[in-house]
Amino acid sequence: MPAYFSTYIVLLIISAAITFSASLTARKRKAPGSSTLTALLVALSMWSAFSAAQYIQEGFAAKFFWLNVMVVPVAAVPILFMNFILKFSGNTVWFTRRTLIAFFVFSIAFILLQWTNSYHHLVLSSVQLVEQDGFPVLEIQRGPIYFVNLALAYSTVTIGTLTLMREALRASNLYRNQYRLLLLGCIIPFAFSIYSQVKYISFSSLDISPISFGITGVIFVAATLRTHFMDLIPVARSHLVENMGDGVLVLDAQNRIADLNPAMEVLLAERPQELLGKYAYEVFGGWVEKTSPIFGNFDLKTEVRIPSSPSHILDLRMTPLYDKNGQVNGRLLVFRDITERKEVEKRLRDANFRMKSQLIEIGILQSQLREQAVRDPLTGLFNRRYLEETLDRELARAARESYPVSIIMIDIDHFKQVNDTYGHEAGDVMLKALGGMLMSHSRRGDFACRYGGEEFLIVMPNITSAIVQERAITLRKSLKVLVVPYANHILTATYSMGIASYPANGDTRDSFLRAADQAMYAAKNAGRDDIRSFDEIETMVK
Ligand code: GH3
Ligand code: MG
Ligand code: MG
Repeated sequence: MPAYFSTYIVLLIISAAITFSASLTARKRKAPGSSTLTALLVALSMWSAFSAAQYIQEGFAAKFFWLNVMVVPVAAVPILFMNFILKFSGNTVWFTRRTLIAFFVFSIAFILLQWTNSYHHLVLSSVQLVEQDGFPVLEIQRGPIYFVNLALAYSTVTIGTLTLMREALRASNLYRNQYRLLLLGCIIPFAFSIYSQVKYISFSSLDISPISFGITGVIFVAATLRTHFMDLIPVARSHLVENMGDGVLVLDAQNRIADLNPAMEVLLAERPQELLGKYAYEVFGGWVEKTSPIFGNFDLKTEVRIPSSPSHILDLRMTPLYDKNGQVNGRLLVFRDITERKEVEKRLRDANFRMKSQLIEIGILQSQLREQAVRDPLTGLFNRRYLEETLDRELARAARESYPVSIIMIDIDHFKQVNDTYGHEAGDVMLKALGGMLMSHSRRGDFACRYGGEEFLIVMPNITSAIVQERAITLRKSLKVLVVPYANHILTATYSMGIASYPANGDTRDSFLRAADQAMYAAKNAGRDDIRSFDEIETMVK
């Protein structure tokens, strides 16, 4: 056997062994297309092995047998190759399920046609055993179907290569090298095949395609095994990350920038060439101290502003990336621009705050209004309206709980004279002073009100007529010493008071008030500056 022959056979066996062991490695991967890659590698291994067997065997029948066996992997390789590229790149535009099925059907047909070749010679128009350098080899003349299959194989490899090229151009930096490697893998069988097709037109010599495809297979495994982030993010997702509105930054174990998407480039306002490989803290500059936990080993969510986009508020999420041993070997940083949301939130908070303070203001105004409605503006005492409302309630309760309610009605004597002598304003000052005095004389549960122009009333629930007498006397004493300075004058007055008790002197509001009024007028008639109770005038009448 010539030396080049034995070298060739050894190469075939090595190719078979390498592709087979590569298939075992590929089988363990979880990367996209790894199962197809495994099948492709097994087919390539079979191709090399059967090819070697065909060359080693010496008899025509044995050689022909292996040639027929070999057609199975030969037919399978293009379709598996294409399928792998499809799955790996996530491309669904050029290859559809339907095309794959068509390819599959053709492959089966091709195998069957070769097996039945002796009847029609469509695949191989002639096969003969000839001697090459003293060694028996098969000399094959190719038939039309063979060329159809060859064309198909070329077109799949071409389309696969073009697909990869397209994906390589689109892929992020992270995957670009991986794609380059895959492309190299695609081009090798091409180059070898074109070379051998050109050089050995008759196919009578050694076919190096199984070896070239074997190299391809091994390169494919190397490409998918290049760990980087292949294990973390399947390649198809790179499109998603590329088109994401959020900035994505991948740091390696040393916190150097391993990858970033276009949105992140915009945020950092720098070109990727200037960023890749740089330490994150160099790029982040000033804000890194504040955000040092991003280099920690735990998930993190925080808000940051970065110097390159100071007007933007970013929501930053960091997720540590782990290797197979559970060691942190990188970090994934996602930056989401939340400026607008923040502004809306702030506007909402402001509006809410304004609304709350307006509500408080309204509340205050409402209570002021309520107060105004029941208060006499001049003296600050309750007004007649309040008296009527409250007295009804008070009397009802007193009736329910059986306790008396007493009132003292007070009228200023000759008040008209104060007005006439010193003016209306002086009268007002006097009324105010009296109001203050009455307020200070009402105890808890009492209430004083301005009943009319210069008539006042103190309502005292749960006070008997005996005690109310004492209270009236005390009040009178205080009023005696009440002097009101007005301009250069000292205003004084005397007061007539009438006392009545509920229910003894009147069991309705009106009769009760009337009783107090009558008692007060009795005091007036008695010469003013006096106190009379309804009980007394009743006794007198009797
Ligand atoms: P007497 O009660 O002792 O019989 O005499 P009088 O002068 O107090 O009696 P009258 O009830 O006739 O007069 C009440 C006066 O009170 C008349 C009115 O001008 C005055 N007056 C009523 N309301 C006000 C007020 O708000 N301010 C001032 N300055 N005077 C008032
Ligand atoms: Mg009066
Ligand atoms: Mg009066």
